[in-house]
Amino acid sequence: MDLKQLVRTIPDYPKPGILFRDVTTLFGHAEGFRECIARLAAPYRDAGVEAVVGIEARGFILGGAVADRLGTGFVPIRKRGKLPAKAIGQDYELEYGVDVIEMHEDALRPGERVLLVDDLIATGGTAMAAVKLIARLGGNLLGAAFVIDLPDLGGARKLEAEGIPCHTLMAFEGD
Ligand code: AMP
Repeated sequence: MDLKQLVRTIPDYPKPGILFRDVTTLFGHAEGFRECIARLAAPYRDAGVEAVVGIEARGFILGGAVADRLGTGFVPIRKRGKLPAKAIGQDYELEYGVDVIEMHEDALRPGERVLLVDDLIATGGTAMAAVKLIARLGGNLLGAAFVIDLPDLGGARKLEAEGIPCHTLMAFEGD
């Protein structure tokens, strides 16, 4: 099944020059979504994952389903100010300025075996901030899984260089 065909590309969103890879069309396709979750989870079936960590917002949809497949719990990483209990935050750079993502400080046990999930890796800024949060909580990050890689932006290579194996289902050239 060609999952790439189910991803819709929107030119000039959210601003001129960006090709936005829209996964809502993949999520809305029953067989495509099931296959996408199966492929994301496949390498980790026997990896002893104990928690799936997903990044707001599309990482919640994917991460929740992957956690169900792997029989683990799910831990959210949210944008600043959204988590109700005590949280730790990590800055990351956007094209213009800085943003913060957060995790509950008691979301992981030290040494807990973690899989990170998001829809797309571009520069890797968001994923690296998530990696730092997981490390600060003492999590043992086994790998990171993304539906889409934008290899020209180098994010997956950046994670691999930090010793975090990346699993991606498809790549789009360019940015
Ligand atoms: P980055 O931090 O540069 O790796 O960007 C990754 C985050 O931004 C992901 O959560 C994506 O959802 C979003 N993103 C970045 N570039 C695109 C794109 N071309 N199309 C869709 N989403 C994108």
